[in-house]
Amino acid sequence: MGYIGCHLSVSDGFEAMGKTMLSLGGNTFAFFTRNPRGGKSKEIVPEDAEAMNTLIKDSSFGPLVAHGSYTMNLCSANEKTRENGFDMLQKDIKRMEYFPGNYYNFHPGSHTGQGTEKGIEMIRDGLNQVITPEIQTTVLLETMAGKGSEVGGCFEELREIIDRVDCKEKIGVCFDTCHTWDGGYDLVNDLDGVLNRFDQIIGLERLLAVHLNDSKNACGSHKDRHEKLGQGMIGMDAMKRIVQHPVLSDLPFILETPNEMEGYRQEIALVRQWMTER
Ligand code: FE
Ligand code: FE
Ligand code: ZN
Repeated sequence: MGYIGCHLSVSDGFEAMGKTMLSLGGNTFAFFTRNPRGGKSKEIVPEDAEAMNTLIKDSSFGPLVAHGSYTMNLCSANEKTRENGFDMLQKDIKRMEYFPGNYYNFHPGSHTGQGTEKGIEMIRDGLNQVITPEIQTTVLLETMAGKGSEVGGCFEELREIIDRVDCKEKIGVCFDTCHTWDGGYDLVNDLDGVLNRFDQIIGLERLLAVHLNDSKNACGSHKDRHEKLGQGMIGMDAMKRIVQHPVLSDLPFILETPNEMEGYRQEIALVRQWMTER
């Protein structure tokens, strides 16, 4: 049983997102806990959250993969930015308690010139204040393309962060196929090798979700420009192998491809087709 969905906008409410995803043929989804470019988050209406929880349970959805704001940077050299980032993280984790048992994914951050080691320490400081045994959400670090001063552009850096998180049962990784490819992991010619490497360095038990994206650029380009499935440099055959790979096939797959709703409907149908073929 595989799970496929895409990013949805929370503006119409939570139950509405569940209904939209059902109408698109999917059985998981992602949403930004607030405006992806930052800013305030809308108050959650408890009845709406409850209605969505019931809907996704009754429809056998896989885990949802919420996404933290792109502006959230726990390891900026700018103290104000860092504090804002931590404030967002803290509030997001609190909001996620309305949706117990799901995932909250975020970009580890950019060290903005302070160096990776310093960046990792700052990320650790933030995470250890919010990831406690009491929370009902698993926090996922996203694999990054290694653009600019991004932390998390290789498996070793994610491992370094995880090693420093006290509450290990609440931390995992979201594998973004565009990012790992851009980061230099050859998903086309050596998918098994990449996943073996992930297992050796991080451990496959931490791999809990996939962002399924093709890439506009070459392996190792460190660019982070997503493309529609099969229209980028990863290509259709490799995308299919990723969806069908036994290590990945039961995880929630979230599309972050440049699409309107109709495009997502088609990609969801395509991935569903691959899932039934395996
Ligand atoms: Fe992301
Ligand atoms: Fe992503
Ligand atoms: Zn990206």
